Amino acid sequence: MTERIAVASIIQETNTFAPQPSTLDDFTAQGLWVGDEAAERSAGTNTEIAGALASAAEAGAEPVPVVRAWAMSGGVLDEYAFTYLRGLLFDGLVAAGPVDALVLCLHGALVADGEPAADAALVEAARAVLPPGTPLVVTHDLHANVTARLVAQVDALVGFRTYPHVDQGDTGRRAAAIALRMLRDGLRPGTVLEKRPMLVPAESQAVADPPMALLRRLADEATGGPILDVSLFPVQPWLDVPELGFGVTVTHAGDEAAARATAKAVADAAWARRGEFAVHPVPVRDAVAAVRPRTGRGPVLLVQSADSPTAGAAADSATVVAALLDRPGELRSYATLVDAPAVAACHIAGAGSSVDTTVGATLDPRWSAPVRISGTVTRLGTDPVTLAGEAMTGQQVSMGRWATVDTGTGLIVLVTERPAPTFDPAGYRHAGLEPAEADAVLVRSATLYRAGYGGGYAEAILLDLPGASTPRLDYLDFQHAPRPLYPIDFAAPEKEAP
Ligand SMILES: [Zn+2]
Repeated sequence: MTERIAVASIIQETNTFAPQPSTLDDFTAQGLWVGDEAAERSAGTNTEIAGALASAAEAGAEPVPVVRAWAMSGGVLDEYAFTYLRGLLFDGLVAAGPVDALVLCLHGALVADGEPAADAALVEAARAVLPPGTPLVVTHDLHANVTARLVAQVDALVGFRTYPHVDQGDTGRRAAAIALRMLRDGLRPGTVLEKRPMLVPAESQAVADPPMALLRRLADEATGGPILDVSLFPVQPWLDVPELGFGVTVTHAGDEAAARATAKAVADAAWARRGEFAVHPVPVRDAVAAVRPRTGRGPVLLVQSADSPTAGAAADSATVVAALLDRPGELRSYATLVDAPAVAACHIAGAGSSVDTTVGATLDPRWSAPVRISGTVTRLGTDPVTLAGEAMTGQQVSMGRWATVDTGTGLIVLVTERPAPTFDPAGYRHAGLEPAEADAVLVRSATLYRAGYGGGYAEAILLDLPGASTPRLDYLDFQHAPRPLYPIDFAAPEKEAP
């Protein structure tokens, strides 16, 4: 008898500090696929669903695609969208008929209106359809906030091992392999969760860098024998929810005591090294003052991860524009921001015309003020950017309508309706702005620019700014997260212990 392995994927990383709610449009814009279409359109991509489906097929089982829903990071999901997506999962499983196991691919940091643990609610919907005892294995992004409510309902949970993330497909495969071993080898796995009350800036979560590299090595060394998987979940930090914290999960083959000891050891190591995750952002004025013109070493990247669209922020802060305007005639620099009214003004004026407008703070006025710019509209466009760097190569990203304004001060501003992909030089290049020719370039990304730019920059300076995705976690007003929470409530790691 061929086992039927259902695979479903509903993924969004929520930023609860983002200004706008996420809606169903954010999913349909990226393709919302059910049944066979979910398999056909995902085939060959480096995604959890494609990995799980391929793994089941290669093992001689029957892959049963249920649903694939994905959206960019954004604000809290509205109730309608969440109800709709949960319905797609529920109805899809009913329509699939009897299945022997489910691999459910979730981000782990999905928050819906009135439902802070939305991923756990999706597992509950699936359990409501599946007969009792049906194997259910979940995958999570490394930035997940793992909840006890979810862990209690799954047979196993596995997470990404990489950041920047490159092992989505492999994670799906690991989940499918556990489900198949349950069906074929009598494996009876379990997953245990340990959490520590700490947040880690995204900028210091890269697994190639210490201390994540050390924790990942500990996790790998602990894997083997009854320990099937050790996953680290340092959590994306812009998430104001109960149960927030650094998670470690251990999936075991029946030896819960060994799994608990392993999870505790790895979580303790993370806590002991919490001070090493600190980042040291630089005030904007100091960063801009440090840029030297025409060094021949490539541009200095001014990293405004505080307003990163890939982390759910609006990308409309004009603070860096203001700082660059304060060095007229000294630097050649590029900045970009979302400002639909300014784009409209440029398109009405036309290329070659002069324009005088404010830019910034049209979507999220909490953290910056509008800045006045005047100059010449040098280029207009509507077509999408094709990414060229190592991250998401070949993928197309729409900036909506866009325009470039040469302010005559050395600063050229790219205004867009949707965020420009600044983690890849292709974003500016698409608008006729070659980053290699600039002294300073604004980048809105925490780590992805490292892959996007490769070595093509002189220096990257992390900016000390507030914002919906700020590295300064003490700037954020956490209302629901458990307190005390490191680093917000602890002055220094030497002074406090849990
Ligand atoms: Zn992630």
